[in-house]
Amino acid sequence: PPGLTPAFTALVDGVLAGPGPRQRRAMAKAITLLESTRAEHRAQADAMLTELLPRTGTSFRLGISGVPGVGKSTFIEALGLSLIDQGHRVAVLAIDPSSSVSGGSILGDKTRMERLSMDERAYIRPSPSSGTLGGVAEKTREAMLVCEAAGYDVVIVETVGVGQSETAVAGMTDMYCLLQLPNAGDDLQAIKKGVMELADLVVINKADLDDAAATRAQSQITSSLRLYGMHRRTPHEVAAANWQPRVMRLSALKGQGLAEFWSAVSEFRTLQTHNGALDHKRRQQARAWMWERIQAGLQQQFLSAPAVRQVMDETLAQVLDGRLAASTAARQLLARFSGDNADA
Ligand code: GDP
Repeated sequence: PPGLTPAFTALVDGVLAGPGPRQRRAMAKAITLLESTRAEHRAQADAMLTELLPRTGTSFRLGISGVPGVGKSTFIEALGLSLIDQGHRVAVLAIDPSSSVSGGSILGDKTRMERLSMDERAYIRPSPSSGTLGGVAEKTREAMLVCEAAGYDVVIVETVGVGQSETAVAGMTDMYCLLQLPNAGDDLQAIKKGVMELADLVVINKADLDDAAATRAQSQITSSLRLYGMHRRTPHEVAAANWQPRVMRLSALKGQGLAEFWSAVSEFRTLQTHNGALDHKRRQQARAWMWERIQAGLQQQFLSAPAVRQVMDETLAQVLDGRLAASTAARQLLARFSGDNADA
């Protein structure tokens, strides 16, 4: 078993070693191992996660998203620096949805958060650079566990606002914050994509540029959040029911509003810890995550099964030409898939 080699033990011990260069090296190695697609690496990575898991779960997981240019890195750097000043250890992970589409990167450039990244008490890791969004999110979720086991008590997961990646981030964090610009219209975008209703906290950044506009945006978004409040239904919303989403103005550049931001986060955490909502949310997230990964895995196995591949094009053509009902085709293909597995 991979768990018994000396290299494996050294890696796990290194992650748990406490702050210092040995821990940083071990974390980088551990996360690289998680991102590897080789089967023997995956087996080691799974054994490592099992070892680390009992040491996780006490950190606060904060999700942050917003369109490019809204000020995410400025905000996270300012927040991170103030948190490490208060004695926290802060990890910043990213999910870059563009990497899975274009191989390019919106979040990936290394000069971001320069001051924070130079501090020993912070750990910044760019987005995994390839894979489906589900795959990238999986690696990030696992990297989060490595950071927690290493003693980072605040883990920030950031993403850009282009749709599904926000749902992924909200699905792996305790609290999800949406950054917005002070001009009206942007909030309508978020509402259209269904992102606004995920938010526990909406931050209008760059309030220093136009405070009147920021105030208008604040009241506009506050009233649209109230509307959502009237028909809250999803598990996330039920779990968050004891928390009324807030909207605040802030200037990441000037550091104005950061203290208020963190005090709202702390209030949320205390409330949701005591009423059990946080624990409930994490259990729901773990369950949803497992099923999401099972579905993705099954689909991949299905598509690569020889018996399925043999007839897939022809079956699909029959469906598209109206010669075979879609549901019949699905049943036939699934039967071939099961037959294939039975032979194996
Ligand atoms: P990201 O793409 O969301 O990570 O945005 P950045 O943090 O890179 O910020 C984009 C630009 O907006 C940079 O030039 C920042 O200096 C600027 N910026 C960020 N926050 C503020 C703010 O609160 N006020 C003002 N005036 N500019 C800001």
